[in-house]
Amino acid sequence: MSSITVKDVFNSMEYGPAPEARNLADEWLMAHGSSFGHYIGGAFTDPNAGEVFDSINPATGQVLATIAQGSAADIDRAVKAARAAQDDWAATPGHVRARYLYALARQIQKHSRLFAVLDTLDNGKTIRETRDLDVPLAARHFYHHAGWAQLLDEEFRGYRPVGVCGQIIPWNFPLLMLAWKVAPALAAGCTVVLKPAEFTPLTALLFAEITRHVGLPDGVFNLVTGDGDTGAALVAHEQVDKIAFTGSTEVGRIIRRETAGSGKKLSLELGGKSPFIVFEDADIDAAIEGVVDGIWLNQGEVCCAGSRLLVQEGLAEKFYARLKRRMQTLRVGDPLDKGVDIGALVAPVQLERIERLVEQGKREGATCWQPDLTLPEQGLYFPPTLFTDVEPSATISQVEIFGPVLVATTFRTPAEAVELANHTRYGLAASIWSSNLDLALDVASKVKAGVVWVNSTNMFDAAAGFGGYRESGYGREGGREGMYEYLQPDWTFAPRKETAAAAQPAPAASRADDLADDVAAVVDRLDLDADSDDDQLDDGFASFAADAGFGFEDELQPAAAEPEEVALPVTEPASVASSAEAEPPAIDATPKLYIGGKQVRPDSGYSYAVTSEQGAFLGEVGLGNRKDIRNAVEAARKASSWSSATAHNRAQVLYYLAENLSQRADELARFIDTMDDGGASLGEREVEASIRRIYTYAAWADKYDGQVHATPLRNVTLAMNEPWGVLGVVAPTDHALLGLLSLILPALAMGNRVVAIPSSPRAAIMAPLYQLLDTSDVPAGTVNLVSGNRDELARVLAQHDDVDSLWYCGSRSGAKLVEEESTGNLKPVWVIRSSGRDWFDPAAGEGREFLRRATQVKNIWVPYGE
Ligand code: ADP
Repeated sequence: MSSITVKDVFNSMEYGPAPEARNLADEWLMAHGSSFGHYIGGAFTDPNAGEVFDSINPATGQVLATIAQGSAADIDRAVKAARAAQDDWAATPGHVRARYLYALARQIQKHSRLFAVLDTLDNGKTIRETRDLDVPLAARHFYHHAGWAQLLDEEFRGYRPVGVCGQIIPWNFPLLMLAWKVAPALAAGCTVVLKPAEFTPLTALLFAEITRHVGLPDGVFNLVTGDGDTGAALVAHEQVDKIAFTGSTEVGRIIRRETAGSGKKLSLELGGKSPFIVFEDADIDAAIEGVVDGIWLNQGEVCCAGSRLLVQEGLAEKFYARLKRRMQTLRVGDPLDKGVDIGALVAPVQLERIERLVEQGKREGATCWQPDLTLPEQGLYFPPTLFTDVEPSATISQVEIFGPVLVATTFRTPAEAVELANHTRYGLAASIWSSNLDLALDVASKVKAGVVWVNSTNMFDAAAGFGGYRESGYGREGGREGMYEYLQPDWTFAPRKETAAAAQPAPAASRADDLADDVAAVVDRLDLDADSDDDQLDDGFASFAADAGFGFEDELQPAAAEPEEVALPVTEPASVASSAEAEPPAIDATPKLYIGGKQVRPDSGYSYAVTSEQGAFLGEVGLGNRKDIRNAVEAARKASSWSSATAHNRAQVLYYLAENLSQRADELARFIDTMDDGGASLGEREVEASIRRIYTYAAWADKYDGQVHATPLRNVTLAMNEPWGVLGVVAPTDHALLGLLSLILPALAMGNRVVAIPSSPRAAIMAPLYQLLDTSDVPAGTVNLVSGNRDELARVLAQHDDVDSLWYCGSRSGAKLVEEESTGNLKPVWVIRSSGRDWFDPAAGEGREFLRRATQVKNIWVPYGE
């Protein structure tokens, strides 16, 4: 008798092949003659009308289908179809839209096997994942968003659909990324032009077919296939109201630059290098399975992959040994085989990139380990790979590999874990493993990432927002927070004031003209900044006047280009004193800059004169430059205690500010009336509105709650509203006090520190304002004020990598400038429309719109149960 035990049997058991049948997919491809056109206005275009390319199965190299390469003309037709359908779709009752979304969800479920097999064939990802993750989650997104369509009027009162959305998606989760984009857009009442990735268009084409099948009105969903050029044409199309993009950080930057100044709303979901942190007290078996899921899901071609393993020192050797044992059991092979863990990589270019980075890792001295696995001879495969002894600054620790490669480092203390976790320019996700929930949640609050999984990884659901911090992009997909990406406040659709100048008394125009010219001339003559670009300066000066409703850009530009004809109000330090002595300002104001809680002289040593609307000399204000902004940002960066203060304490400080303002209300009202002596006397009203606004945000400080999302797993998903950190603020030109406070206050209430550029012509307001801040216990560095040329200073804020987010209220050319310049650290820029906005009206001047912009949502997933 042989003495084979059950254990022996298990150990020697070989996996037999268990392939999923592909006949359904083959039949579908054949039914279309394996060639596809675009889907525009409810019909497929002729597949052979223009250029075509092949869609290839990366597991075999077989051509699956011939796909139309979308041209700019195709994009134009699709956008026009979407535009034509937009009004009717927006006017369609939410309940009816809900029914369409529900029908789409049902169709995805009904054809789930076809969708799963097609995604696997086109992408190389395993059937286990497409079947169990991609397709069910895609259906879930349509179900969930059917609900938002139903509830839209009630839950998003005061908002309207953005309009025509251009959506560009990557190849790693072809159907799922489509669902993340299309479902919220349709729910919100937007119409769509979708551009799938060139490697994986098939499930999007099948989806187009089901939209027709459910009778979705023509033009609501349009699909144009093609490569990056097709995407670029969509980004450039001027009738597109919003671009939603998922893909590489590199292309995200291009899109930010291309859309700058266009007024297009933008959401970006970009790359990542997410930490996977294991503490010594973690459940090791669970953590090992977590790593497998974290980095080897989808061959590691996942933007939120847990690609950086950080293990606490005492556990490291044991953990690596266990991990290697587990890696040895992973199966790499035919993606259609139901027993396979790791399928094929999407394309040769991706395989080459991974191979190149792995070689670089070895060259830089890290230890590379791969299990002894036999890979299929044909197709694009790469074995699961573990690097240990990796320096945190090594290329493979910093660069997104987007493949099955895990990079491990050790840490000693929780503080060191946080430091290493944040030692990246990305901030998409993090996974934290510890049986001490206090510790895990503390680390979760400190890690800079949009999604944090505690004792879990790669959990996704339509009810929870997904999206990044820092260079991983901005905007969220899923949940309530995701819906806002496709909505716009009602009042922004109100017609703009024809020309604000018409509403202003005549003298105001001349005063603003003068001031614009004066400041332009000053900067021109002093050559304050070697980098300054005359065109931009012209734009800036022209625009602050235009913005204030005092002039017209076109008329102002020539004047700004001829500075020598204009009298200069600028004064050197010595003459400031003498001019002040000789002619005391009408109001006692010669404000310096306010940086780090101190009044400081501008680095340039120069000031510029500010006058009242009627032209009366009011005083000299500091002419801030690049260095002053840098100092202000540094001071704001240091003032981190404001962000960690409790909401209650922040509210107390704000109430105190209101108290101090009300004590000086008369004086401030006179001050404002002295500046704004061209029209009705509004000082008293402005001060009163400012006091109310402070009360509003003191009230909100501890009431703008996060949420607990109802995700369908045994966990709580905490959607926390976190401050950005350092927020740049460029204030509106009019309403010196109320306009500035309307932006500073929500930022402060939510825990941000602020570097603000007050209205250039009304910068004299700084003097009473910093006195108020000083006497109201606002900690030094929490609010910094730098006066000067608005757009020149705004540009420095936009370029600064330590500014986390920027609010810009100004001209169109200024908006373009700051949006273009924001691409360094990909800070989100909120261009705040001032024209047509009544800052006195609480519906337009305060509230949730501002609070939402003052925060970013971090979703923390915490499982529970035995
Ligand atoms: P990845 O290949 O890493 O997923 P990419 O950013 O290259 O990321 O591609 C994501 C999507 O962006 C694809 O649909 C691609 O065709 C598209 N794309 C690439 N370049 C551009 C561009 N310049 N403008 C718009 N879309 C682009």
